[in-house]
Amino acid sequence: MQIKWGQILIDTLRGKNLVLFRLAKLYINYKKSIKHIKDFAAYKVIFKLDDLVNCNEAVLELDRYIKREDLKVCWGIIGNSLESADNNYLNFIKENNNKNYQFFNHGYNHLEGPEYEFCGKSVEEQIDTISKTQKIVYDKTGITLRAFGAPCNRIDDNTTAALETFKDIKYWFYGKNNYSGISFLPYTRAEKTVGNPDFEFLIENLSDSDKNMKILILQFHPYHWDFEQKINFHLIIKFLKKLGCEFIFPDEAVQQDIYK
Ligand SMILES: [Zn+2]
Repeated sequence: MQIKWGQILIDTLRGKNLVLFRLAKLYINYKKSIKHIKDFAAYKVIFKLDDLVNCNEAVLELDRYIKREDLKVCWGIIGNSLESADNNYLNFIKENNNKNYQFFNHGYNHLEGPEYEFCGKSVEEQIDTISKTQKIVYDKTGITLRAFGAPCNRIDDNTTAALETFKDIKYWFYGKNNYSGISFLPYTRAEKTVGNPDFEFLIENLSDSDKNMKILILQFHPYHWDFEQKINFHLIIKFLKKLGCEFIFPDEAVQQDIYK
């Protein structure tokens, strides 16, 4: 990932930001965490990335990183982004599915409140919006999405009833426990706030978590990461690799019986 170190140095010297100081602290905390590596486990990790809507330079930059680090990533497509998708975007989905990525249904129009796409809607409306994304992705790429994660994770009991009608969808990220498929729950978090990956926050969460925890379902929103957020993400990956973590897709979690 590209970091403009010269500009960061100039800005820091001019007092415009304190990013170098924050990065120095982050680096020290990373080194400290490495020393305590025995306090953590070699978790299985599912990455849940949200909000794929195109194949712009930010996506391509992250894609290069994901491939270089050989990660497996579930990435949520917002259905209406395919209405006017160019070939680059469609090919990105087609060529990468089941390689470094498995794409999932992340709603159709991604309403973010006060009205939400799922929470507060009838079962029929929720079935309709899930169908629209399933259909447009299949029609344009030939891929049947097998997992779902609601925009903003805003769901209600009608979402469970709606999802139950989709036999192709087997997995629900951050779903409800009463779902007859498999819900992958947020056992721990790496984003301090939405869109803000935070290495130190993840370490705190892991330190406080159940020592028998085997799987992490880590959510990220990579679209607008600045350099500091990219470095946090990179340190998270570096740390997970040091722990000996394995990056997996949902099917593998089920095969290994470690989804709870
Ligand atoms: Zn989203």
